[in-house]
Amino acid sequence: MFDKEIGVNVCRLHSDDGAHVLGRSPVVTVMGHVDHGKTSLLDALRQTSLAAKEAGGITQHLGAFVVGMQSGASITFLDTPGHAAFSAMRARGAAVTDIVVLVVAADDGVMPQTLEAMSHAKAGNVPIVVAINKCDKPDANPERVKVQLAAEGLLLEEMGGDVQVVEVSAINEVGLDKLEDALLLQAELMDLKARVDGPAQAYVVEARLDKGRGPLATAIVKAGTLVCGQHVVVGAEWGRIRSIRDMARKVIAEARPAMPIEIEGLKGLPMAGDDIVVVESEERARMLSEGRKKKFEKDRLTKLEEERPKASEEEEEEDETKPERVEVPLIVKADVQGTVQAVTDAVKNLNSSQVIHAGVGPVSQSDIDMAQACGACIVGFNVRDPPSSIALAATQAKVKIKLHRVIYHLLEDIGNFIVEKAPGTLETQVAGEAQVLNIFELKGRSKSKGDDVKIAGCRVIDGRVTKSSTLRLLRSGEVVFEGSCASLKREKQDVEAVGKGNDCGLVIKDCFDFQVGDVIQCLVQVNRKPKFVSSESGAVRIEC
Ligand code: GDP
Repeated sequence: MFDKEIGVNVCRLHSDDGAHVLGRSPVVTVMGHVDHGKTSLLDALRQTSLAAKEAGGITQHLGAFVVGMQSGASITFLDTPGHAAFSAMRARGAAVTDIVVLVVAADDGVMPQTLEAMSHAKAGNVPIVVAINKCDKPDANPERVKVQLAAEGLLLEEMGGDVQVVEVSAINEVGLDKLEDALLLQAELMDLKARVDGPAQAYVVEARLDKGRGPLATAIVKAGTLVCGQHVVVGAEWGRIRSIRDMARKVIAEARPAMPIEIEGLKGLPMAGDDIVVVESEERARMLSEGRKKKFEKDRLTKLEEERPKASEEEEEEDETKPERVEVPLIVKADVQGTVQAVTDAVKNLNSSQVIHAGVGPVSQSDIDMAQACGACIVGFNVRDPPSSIALAATQAKVKIKLHRVIYHLLEDIGNFIVEKAPGTLETQVAGEAQVLNIFELKGRSKSKGDDVKIAGCRVIDGRVTKSSTLRLLRSGEVVFEGSCASLKREKQDVEAVGKGNDCGLVIKDCFDFQVGDVIQCLVQVNRKPKFVSSESGAVRIEC
């Protein structure tokens, strides 16, 4: 089978015709509301993984791990909890996940991100197995959670549907075996199969740079067999596979479907969700990678072009009172490439920030230099606290470093930071309205007392009227005069403000044309700042 891709004929040999097709393990992603125990559950499951058993319980975060059952069956877990990573992968077309474990805390119930996870799973057409966590807590109420989930349209097994529910405690490691059984049962129902022979089709789930070994990618084979020594194109990068390791870090010669592996030998760092295509020669790998790089660059420029004219049209239409859009420059650092991408995408969605640099690893001196040069703020996700020398350098350079481990907290923090930085726009608002009920005339009795004045006897019908503000006189809805307040009295006493429902005497400087029935509006200048808003579903944005 030949695919024409960016002017290069790629021999993709991915056809299943006549191929050897076998059952494969399910690939599972854990999702749910923040603090409901996704990380704890993954930690507990990782302890039961094959790698942990082989390494005497010591495990490392590599993006995925495999749990083996006594029956010989196994489950592959993606080790990056959260929705951002899931959506980032899906956005690149990497449908790696077969089943979603929806974690709901038994003491907290269905929350915005629980619903968001449900929507993600639905959009990806991925079945859910519910893990009601924290069942060890005294105030745990799994039944309530079930009712809530059912009310949200999840068809639970015990209510006649097909969604399995398992009660667990990640902390006490209770119910993990039941969860694993439920996942295997779900997988059985799905009858997951993959071609095992022929060139591999695989996806990157995480990538990082190792000082000694260069770019390392954790990948999951979807079909076929990946063999050491093959030439591959990974996203826009390429390389020759120098070594394949399983999750226990053991060097293996080849990798089969649903197997997470770490590959070495790529020329550059790929991104989470990038596909891995086996090609027949180095020449083809280079050509395809170059072609893809050019195409990505072209797409990027086209996208920029498309955005530009739209922005200028909008600008023309904008009235002067509209606040300027703030663009806070950010530098994103995260533990692994997958999270770098997810965090970058998430902060971009805030719509008021510009990621000027994103990379893997802890915050470094060069990040601070760049941040200082661009007036940027550094955002670290799941990275170590910087050493004191770096923290000091940041303080001296007046560069803010914001470190987080929960994506929502990070977005909230950045959102508030952007709002704080935004200059805002002065806007005139009507703070109160008064209706003219009587008119009194005060004749200038002497030169020292000044000219004649007209006093409007009013009742405040809405809000407040304040002396320090500008007043606007309206007749039948039309503005007839605008001026400053020369006097505001309540029962002959000078006052600063009069509230709704009260009568007052009002003088507008140089205004002699009151009529009964006129409306006087009290205008105030307010500095309108953009707002950080988070919706019910957990989505966040900055509203100008
Ligand atoms: P995540 O934000 O969903 O990844 O949640 P975490 O795994 O970080 O857990 C949030 C908090 O809940 C932590 O303080 C955990 O110790 C606690 N936690 C997680 N699982 C359990 C559990 O089964 N029982 C109890 N009592 N606490 C738990």
